[in-house]
Amino acid sequence: MATKTAEKSRTSRPPEVKDQPLFIGGKWQDSVSGKTFATVNPATGKTICQVAEGDKADIDLAVKAARKAFEAGPWPKMSASERGRLLHKLADLIEQHTDELAALESLDNGKPLVDSRTADLPLTIKCYRYYAGWTDKIHGKTIPVEGDFFCYTRHEPVGVVGQIIPWNFPLLMQAWKWGPALAAGCTIVLKPAEQTPLTALRVAALAQEAGFPDGVVSVVPGFGPTAGAALSGHLDVDKVAFTGEYTTGQLIMEAAAKSNLKRVSLELGGKSPNIVFADADLDAAVEGAYFGLFFNQGQCCCAGSRLFVEDKVHDQLVEKLVKKAKARKVGDPFQADTEQGPQVSQEQFDKVMGFIEVGKKEGAKLLTGGNRIGKEGYFIEPTVFDNVTDEMRIAKEEIFGPVMNVLKFKDLNEVVRRSNQTFYGLAAAVWTRDINKAHRLANGLRAGTVWVNCYDVFDAAAPFGGYKMSGQGRELGEYALELYTEVKTVYVALG
Ligand code: NAP
Ligand code: MG
Repeated sequence: MATKTAEKSRTSRPPEVKDQPLFIGGKWQDSVSGKTFATVNPATGKTICQVAEGDKADIDLAVKAARKAFEAGPWPKMSASERGRLLHKLADLIEQHTDELAALESLDNGKPLVDSRTADLPLTIKCYRYYAGWTDKIHGKTIPVEGDFFCYTRHEPVGVVGQIIPWNFPLLMQAWKWGPALAAGCTIVLKPAEQTPLTALRVAALAQEAGFPDGVVSVVPGFGPTAGAALSGHLDVDKVAFTGEYTTGQLIMEAAAKSNLKRVSLELGGKSPNIVFADADLDAAVEGAYFGLFFNQGQCCCAGSRLFVEDKVHDQLVEKLVKKAKARKVGDPFQADTEQGPQVSQEQFDKVMGFIEVGKKEGAKLLTGGNRIGKEGYFIEPTVFDNVTDEMRIAKEEIFGPVMNVLKFKDLNEVVRRSNQTFYGLAAAVWTRDINKAHRLANGLRAGTVWVNCYDVFDAAAPFGGYKMSGQGRELGEYALELYTEVKTVYVALG
């Protein structure tokens, strides 16, 4: 918290940004079509700059460069520890450019600068450093097989990987994808989200400065149905990694299946239950509920968007929560005391406002919020709905905005059953002082991460990913290396 307080004294101005080219095979270039698109400042709705619009032809060029870099030149010959040194160098350069990158991220995405500086940047840097440490620790086994053979396994890079990321944590999602892929020795074509291409391009420039050979990373901004689809359906891409909406995940899996059965990993959002028992430390639970939903304008895949509260403490908890929501400071991301910025785009703003109308129509009780703030930019009041029931759309669908839904429950078995009544399974949390309850919930909840008396705790060393339709595979930690390696078995006859 000390850093956060210190950061609050710093207000900055949004940076000036010039028009951006694509980064392919170590070169900065226009798109083959010559087309560009505008990236918009969500705080004002105004264009920041034009960005070269990549399409199938540009993806083809980037994949060719990535294939060449994977098979020839310095990258495949480089020692594992040297790859680690390059990743460390990249982390150092990102750290040295923290202020610049944080400002760029806040400008393009709308998140408060204080959050970019104290959350996105440190987590991004730690992620690269964590995987820098893995490069020379990825190895196989020797296996005592029957007969006169020496048998061992090698963990080899899967090859050329396509990575498609969303706009909610642009720098961090790039780090989650690049860290393990580069540690494993893959080469990469990244398509950032159309809303937030700027920091990905800046990190590409830093990777070039760090000394990554040409073609090891390429960044091709563009649109999902064109550039994204070309990447996921490409015949010469060995693996595609994606974070975003589950319906897009389905398209990517289909494209992978119909092209070359490339490996697929998916992180697809959720409708995560956050469960508060009457025996919890209520102030801590309120803090966790508030942070777990409103952080990042509510645009988190693991947002605690179904707040289950035991009926005995419901009124007390809701009163405290509403008080906090009302006091939340929404406004200019570059203002030092801003806690909540705009939603990322007009489209997301409309979607969230639409869900607020749905909630009202469905009969949920609007306790606070529900309105737009100001006349320009995509700002929405922190919103709390009470008396939400399981079958309401606001309790089932991912809203991805600052909209909290409070549901009541009576007992443990009931809340486990209702929490699991969703096709998602990304994250969950439980607040209680009873260790038995905590462990019963941790075991019973069908989710990739369960937080006990905390929320949104992340570490590069601990895996993250979803059950059910929240995804396939695990990012972060040692587990993410599995996404980027093939296992080869070698038998050597000794006779
Ligand atoms: P999205 O469409 O799934 O976008 C994620 C990424 O996939 C973007 O880079 C997108 O490109 C790309 N994409 C879109 N269609 C594609 C296709 N056919 N083939 C390959 N790539 C494709 O998500 P969104 O439209 O930005 O947001 C919609 C909703 O998704 C949100 O309201 C939220 O509920 C959810 N979401 C979840 C997460 C998460 O972390 N799980 C993150 C963001 C959004 P474009 O940028 O051109 O669309
Ligand atoms: Mg989209």
